[in-house]
Amino acid sequence: MSYTIEQRDEQLLNSEAKIFYHISFPQAGQHLMQIEMRVETDAEKLIFALPNWLPGSYKIRDFVAVQGNVVAVTSNGEELPSTWLSKNRLEVETKGEREVQLRYLYYANERTVRQSHVNRFHAFFNPGNCLMFVEGRTNEVHHVELEHNWTHVSTALSPVSEGVWGALNYDILVDSPVEIGDHFVAFYERKGATHEIAITGAGDFDPEWIVERTKTVVDEGMAMWGVMPYDRYVYILHMLPGQYGGLEHARSQVSMFDSNFFADKKKMQKFLELLTHEYFHTWNVKRIRPRELGPFNYHDENYTRMLWLAEGATSYYDSLISYRSGFFTQDEYLKVLAEDHLSALLDVPGRNVMSIKDSSFLAWVKLYNPTPDSHNRFPSYYLKGGIIFLLLDLYIIDRSNATSSLDDGMRALYSRYESNPAVGITEEEFVQVISEATGVEIEKTFVHWLNSTEELPAASIFHSFGLKWKQKKEKKEMLGDGIEIPRSTRTWIGLGVKEEGGSLHVAKVWAGTPAELAGVGVDDEIIAINGRRVGSMAVWKGVMENANLGAALRLTCSAEGYLYETEVEPVERTAYSLKLVSPLTEDQQKRFEKWLGNSGRRSEEEREAQLTNGVAKAEAKI
Ligand SMILES: [Zn+2]
Repeated sequence: MSYTIEQRDEQLLNSEAKIFYHISFPQAGQHLMQIEMRVETDAEKLIFALPNWLPGSYKIRDFVAVQGNVVAVTSNGEELPSTWLSKNRLEVETKGEREVQLRYLYYANERTVRQSHVNRFHAFFNPGNCLMFVEGRTNEVHHVELEHNWTHVSTALSPVSEGVWGALNYDILVDSPVEIGDHFVAFYERKGATHEIAITGAGDFDPEWIVERTKTVVDEGMAMWGVMPYDRYVYILHMLPGQYGGLEHARSQVSMFDSNFFADKKKMQKFLELLTHEYFHTWNVKRIRPRELGPFNYHDENYTRMLWLAEGATSYYDSLISYRSGFFTQDEYLKVLAEDHLSALLDVPGRNVMSIKDSSFLAWVKLYNPTPDSHNRFPSYYLKGGIIFLLLDLYIIDRSNATSSLDDGMRALYSRYESNPAVGITEEEFVQVISEATGVEIEKTFVHWLNSTEELPAASIFHSFGLKWKQKKEKKEMLGDGIEIPRSTRTWIGLGVKEEGGSLHVAKVWAGTPAELAGVGVDDEIIAINGRRVGSMAVWKGVMENANLGAALRLTCSAEGYLYETEVEPVERTAYSLKLVSPLTEDQQKRFEKWLGNSGRRSEEEREAQLTNGVAKAEAKI
């Protein structure tokens, strides 16, 4: 059977399986899952293995580290001989038994989208963390029986019979996280598909408001792609203080977000961008995917140079679709592009050091293993990839004289998936499909952006759209008596600091800045500036805000307890903005409309209501 992640609920109803898991939670308070695996076999030996990483999160995590009390037995409970072949592979001798049971505990105490978390109030697990597979048999149907006393099970696994859920193969099982608890649930239909919204956690949010916004996300997804790729989709949302993260699946997503966000419009928009991002992945990366990302090797790193497609395109579209949804006004969207995307990349010296293809290939040890020096060494394929896709969209609109856009290219990629779902695409195929679908030859330009560490040509591309990418003007500050003092908006020395136990420490140093030239290093303590003690962030901010261009600051620091002094001269920190010039020429107008015109899909009132309703409710609750 060839590789597939597609599953419809009707395929599993009353199905049979020779690989069966029974999961119970008698020690949920201690974060333990009790797992019993039953496998029918006629082989002499079985090899059981647990993945070392989870697709979508590119890091070796050795989930087996929290597995314990592993024992293989016959159906009568007699122990069978077993041997560990490597850290995550266990060989069991069947001794002619037709059924082998493997029993173990799994300590689930990490509440992240890629791990598992069980306590007395709920159980959330990623099957790829805790359910072993049988080598050579991953293409079989797998069943999971859940024994618990909670009220709801929310998962993209398909119902088989009372309390039993199933997956057509192990890849689909891994791709189907499970939330069990007494959480909020809501259901609705869209285009013949069932959508379930499962929300766990507490805070100042309104679950019904979230349900309504997911409908907008689904509708905009449909408007963009024109095809609904699933029969059922589950949003599993963990809303808890300080949480942030998301992980995509073929028929579900897990998103975690700070539960106290309703009073803050920007955070609310971030939350909606996150839901949009993970939902966009339903098409891009779960289905349209780099060739190396499925089928997976669960033991080792699965290297790909194409995470710019998986995450770059998705980062571009999460903001763009949020704009189309009405989560941002046009001005807000341009501001997001200017600040969160374009300026953010200019704050990463590593953009001139490593290409995003290399940054993608090395994600396992770079982006997923960051250090305080990372920003100086490589750009994120999310950030730079998102900008490359913004520029690609504008390039296509410009060169096609506003007759096609990247949307056409993305839809063609999806058609390519439908015609060959078992095999992902290569960079060459991507270039070919986009060029053919849009009528714009992209190879020379686009492939250069992927391989190069040069600055991207944003300003020149924006020009055709009547957009001006410019450096912000100096702010004039008025003194009380009306005397105007010109002052740079933001001077800086290239240091990021953090306050720890009453002292100030260097958290980050930017390459090519005065701080780097002055020899200041990460972890050094900053004791005084110009002879005056700085022990807190507040004092630090005050000094920096009043620092003048070119006027040297004398820093007294300590490196591992040894004092040193050094001087830095503040420089101007460039800030940029993206503004629409007026009036637009006819050509500029046409191009801008093609890019951000909403095609009348959503009325202005409807767009405005997306956020104002939420703000109103939040105020009522506070
Ligand atoms: Zn993503």
